[in-house]
This record gives sequence, structure tokens and C-alpha cells, in this order.
Amino acid sequence: MTTCARCSGPLYGCDRAVGAEVCVECVRKSLAPTEWAIFLRALRSSVDDHGLISQTRVRPLIQSIAPKHRGQLYRRAMSEGLIRPDGYEPSTDLKGRNTDKPQRLYRWIAEQSRKSA
Ligand SMILES: [Zn+2]
Repeated sequence: MTTCARCSGPLYGCDRAVGAEVCVECVRKSLAPTEWAIFLRALRSSVDDHGLISQTRVRPLIQSIAPKHRGQLYRRAMSEGLIRPDGYEPSTDLKGRNTDKPQRLYRWIAEQSRKSA
């Protein structure tokens, strides 16, 4: 039987069919930190001169992240003290059909809180 190169668990037919050497479970685990890394980079590069982060700026940078994961990533960034909600702006999310709803603005607070700590 073929086994996963990482966890030695069984490799299923569908894994082998696409030439995978690691099982879907290992792939799933390895994806999470990558998404977080992409998201963090996007957040940092989207901070404007006033320390605000517009989702309109972040969105094109996180296209590789599944839309349903994005909310989770924002929540994680908040719980880790990197950003906090700071008002709203008109949404430009045409694809998500949310243009009539205001979208959250965030404030980058990571460096700030490190300084005051
Ligand atoms: Zn595995």
C-alpha cells in the first residue's frame, strides 16, 4: 500500500491519481499557515498613511484564499491584537454582491501595542 510521505497514513486513490505524495489531511494542515502568511502580508501592505486597512485594498491580494476562510483570518488577526475594527466604508465587493452594504474598516494596531507594552 502507498503511504503519505509526511504522516505515513494511507494515500487514497484520488490522491495518487493527481500525483500527490502527501494525504489530503496533511495538505489541509499545511495550507492553513500559508493562508495566514498570505493574509498577514496583504494586511501589512494595505495599511494606509492613517494606519487604516481597507478591505478593498486587501481583497485583490488574497484572491488565492477561499472567500469563506477570509472572515476567519480577519477574526484571527483581531484576536492576536494585530487589527481592530475602526468604522465603515462603502463596499466595492462587486463579486460578493455587497456593494449596497458598508464594509468594515480596520486599524493596524500591532506595532502600536508593542510600543506601549
Ligand atoms: Zn498525511
